[in-house]
Amino acid sequence: MSDKINFKDLGFDELKKYFQDMGQPSYRAEQVFKWLHQGVTDYEQMTNLPKDLRSLLKDKSKISCVTIVEKKISRLDGTIKYLLRLDDGNLIESVLMRYKHGITICISTQVGCRMGCRFCASTIGGLVRHLTPGEMLDQVVFIQKDVGERITNIVLMGIGEPLDNYDNVMTFLRNVNHPKGLNIGYRHISLSTCGLVEDIIKLSKENMPITLSVSLHAPNDEIRSKIMPVNRRYSVDKVLEACKIYADTTKRRVTFEYAMISGVNDSIENAKELSEKIKGILCHVNLIPVNKIAEREYSKSRINQIHAFKKILEQNGISTTIRRELGGDINASCGQLRRGYSEKQ
Ligand code: SAH
Repeated sequence: MSDKINFKDLGFDELKKYFQDMGQPSYRAEQVFKWLHQGVTDYEQMTNLPKDLRSLLKDKSKISCVTIVEKKISRLDGTIKYLLRLDDGNLIESVLMRYKHGITICISTQVGCRMGCRFCASTIGGLVRHLTPGEMLDQVVFIQKDVGERITNIVLMGIGEPLDNYDNVMTFLRNVNHPKGLNIGYRHISLSTCGLVEDIIKLSKENMPITLSVSLHAPNDEIRSKIMPVNRRYSVDKVLEACKIYADTTKRRVTFEYAMISGVNDSIENAKELSEKIKGILCHVNLIPVNKIAEREYSKSRINQIHAFKKILEQNGISTTIRRELGGDINASCGQLRRGYSEKQ
C-alpha cells in the first residue's frame, strides 16, 4: 500500500488542520469531507474545487475504496451480504438489513478477530489487522451507493471487536455522525462488544449516546469462560458492573446479546441466574438462536426452549426479544462468507 494519506482516516478537525497547514481555507476541507462521505473516489469529481487544488490533493493523498468480491441477496427478506476487498487485498464482510424503520448496515471493524469466541467464525484465523476509520466509512458509502438508498442505522457487529480498535472506531463514529458527513444520529448507531471492561467505561465518558450491545451469552463464569475465552480476563460480574456504569452514566439502555446454544446456556436454571444478575441494570435482552458454523459442534436451542427462557426473564421484569433471523438462506452470520471464500482459495 502507498503511504499517502487517506483523508477519510482523519477526524473532521484534523482534516481542517491539515488544510490549514497547506495554506487552504477551512471550507475547502469541508468540501472534501462532504465529497468523501458521498462516496466520491476521484478528485476530478470534486467539481467545486479549483483544478490545481485537485491535482495537489491527488499527489498528497489517496482515496481508499472497497470492491465487491461477492454479493448475496436473500430471497426471504431482502438482506444483502457483501464480501468486500480492501485496497491491500484483505477481505471483510458487511450486511444490509431492511427493517420497517429504515435500512441498517452491519459493518466490520477489523480483519479477523483475536477474541476467540468458540461459536464465532470470524475469529478462527485470528486477527490480521485493524480497519482504519476510512475503511469503516467505505463500507457505508459503498453500500449506500450500491443500493441507491439512504442508510439510516449502523451496527458495529460485523467481523472484529470494535473496542479492540478503540481510537479508529471513535474517529469513524464522530465522522459519520458529523452534520457535514452522513449525519447519522448516535441513537441510530449500536456498538457490540464481547465485554472489554476498561473500554466500556471509557466509552461511557465519550459523550456519544450510542447503544451499547454486550455479548453476554452466559449467566456465570463457568459457562462463559468455556465459550468466550475473554471471560477469563473479565468475569461476568466485572462486565455487568461496567454495563451498569455505562447505563447510569449515559442513561441509555444496554442490550445483552445472548446466543441460545442447545444444552450449553439455555436451561431454565440459566434463565433464572441471568435474571438475578441483570435485574438492577437498565437493559434489554436479545435472544439469538445460535447460527451453526461448519467448524464447530454447537447447535441452536429449540424454539420452545427459547420461549421458556424468555418467559422467565420477562417474569423478572426484563424486556426480552427473540431476534428475527435475517438472511438465513445466504450464510449471513458473522464471518462465514470470508471464511468460506478463503477455504475455497
Ligand atoms: N466482537 C463483537 C462484535 C462482533 S460479533 C462482539 O463480540 O459483540 C457480533 C455478534 O454476533 C456478537 O453478539 C457475537 O457473539 C454474535 N455471534 C457470533 N457468532 C455467532 C453465531 N454463530 N451465532 C449467533 N451469534 C453469533
